[in-house]
Amino acid sequence: MCALSFPTDLSLYEQTHTLIAFSNRLGGFSIGEFGELNLSYDVGDDTNIVKRNRDIFINAIQLSVDNKAKLQSLINPIQVHETLCLSAQEYKREGTRFECDAIFCNEKLQPVMLLFADCVPVIAVAESGNFVVIHSGWRGCYNEVSKHALAKFMSFENSDICEFNFYIGPHICSRCFETSSDVASKFSDKFGTDVLLSKTNVDLCGVIKHTLISLGATNERIACSSDCTVCKNNLYFSYRAQNQVCGRQCAFGVCL
Ligand SMILES: [Zn+2]
Repeated sequence: MCALSFPTDLSLYEQTHTLIAFSNRLGGFSIGEFGELNLSYDVGDDTNIVKRNRDIFINAIQLSVDNKAKLQSLINPIQVHETLCLSAQEYKREGTRFECDAIFCNEKLQPVMLLFADCVPVIAVAESGNFVVIHSGWRGCYNEVSKHALAKFMSFENSDICEFNFYIGPHICSRCFETSSDVASKFSDKFGTDVLLSKTNVDLCGVIKHTLISLGATNERIACSSDCTVCKNNLYFSYRAQNQVCGRQCAFGVCL
């Protein structure tokens, strides 16, 4: 099980001590629609199995024994397709799970995990190693949750957004994201016709890039996964491909 590997950025880790990863559905204990590596407690899967899957994931990112022992408890918010971003401190203040769609983290050894099945995962990392993990479904893309998350980030950070690294994980592609022509035209009205593949197909990754670049991000510093969760449903959970019953993969960050 420890042989699992996930997309990450080792040079980022060497420079900032921040470790990021995007999981897929292979290698866990869940079965059926949740098979195999479902990381969500909120989709009807067996709680004990999800806990084991999360342990597999944490083992697979290969933290040192020392760091693993010192990890704070995982922040995993209730995602609601809104634009609220909380800092790790704000999140932990109440001692309960919050509804929000982005977490900013400037604490060492504080792991953050957001969960996905077609929606677009975004992670931004500053040179300081501080980072934000963002859940951006089509509503979040349209309402620019990334913009709200970066506003929160910049309220803590002195560096420039052009120095940030951005990572956009596996998500539904523009061919698979078919919507109504009304919704699609709202996107083109706001972000330009470049974000449409057709009158009913929207490029959500393109929308996020539009938002990030308008805020000062450098195009060369935006890494975007070409994997589609619907096209590659054997490798990823997909809400659309699995008729809304499925597990969740994650976008994960921790600064060590
Ligand atoms: Zn696709």
